[in-house]
Amino acid sequence: MNDDCIFCKIAEGQIPAKIEYQDEDILVFHDITPQAPLHLLIIPKKHITNANEIREENAGIISKIFTEIPKLAFQFGVNEKGYRIVNNCGKDGGQTVFHLHFHMLAGRHLAWPPG
Ligand code: 5GP
Ligand code: ZN
Repeated sequence: MNDDCIFCKIAEGQIPAKIEYQDEDILVFHDITPQAPLHLLIIPKKHITNANEIREENAGIISKIFTEIPKLAFQFGVNEKGYRIVNNCGKDGGQTVFHLHFHMLAGRHLAWPPG
């Protein structure tokens, strides 16, 4: 738990969020400013700042997150039409919350390349 981290506070239940799924390791909740009809955030409960901190020792959480993604896709009925998984890392990557998270965006056609 990082006391200054908003996603740690959400994971601890100190700040409310619209939670879709959680277990002992990961949490899935709706983004407060959705950029698509479906905009979920998938986070490890344990504080990891960003992709720069992924190591063999904590990579199991990444596997858990990516195993949850197809389940969410089926749950929300977007598995056939598709979706986008985004991780913003650091300032140039557009990261604004410094607790590792993956965006899951769906429900409209998403342009490429991103801005
Ligand atoms: P980033 O820009 O770091 O990739 O993504 C951070 C995301 O967190 C943004 O899409 C932003 O809307 C979302 N966000 C920031 N604060 C909160 C919050 O308090 N609750 C929820 N549900 N989402 C948040
Ligand atoms: Zn955190």
